[in-house]
Amino acid sequence: MGDCLFCRIISKEIKSEIVFENDDVLIFKDVNPKAPVHLLAVPKKHVSSILDVEKLSENEITGLINSISKIAREFEIDRDGFRVVTNSGASAGQSVDHLHFHIMGKRLFTWPPG
Ligand code: AMP
Repeated sequence: MGDCLFCRIISKEIKSEIVFENDDVLIFKDVNPKAPVHLLAVPKKHVSSILDVEKLSENEITGLINSISKIAREFEIDRDGFRVVTNSGASAGQSVDHLHFHIMGKRLFTWPPG
């Protein structure tokens, strides 16, 4: 866990552009944005992927989802539409083993994703 990139961002050992924080959740800007708005929402508790979500309390899960909804409004991506994505495992392209939701907006998204 000491080696986890997002844990180090959460502890502020690594700098990030934080846009929302409470006791359980951190949302920061993706360093390599794939959309004009590209944020990452993470639980502060280390959880490897959505497969381990049972390690979070119901409050932590609800708080995470609520914070995504709140930040989408704050960044004004709610009206035109936006995408929330979590990649799990190698074939889905997960590169950081700490559960994170990509929040992307201000461009057109195709379906299905590549
Ligand atoms: P994924 O590939 O789904 O695991 O997403 C990991 C995301 O973390 C990628 O979109 C990266 O651009 C992003 N990322 C990697 N390092 C940092 C960092 N230091 N600060 C912010 N975002 C990062």
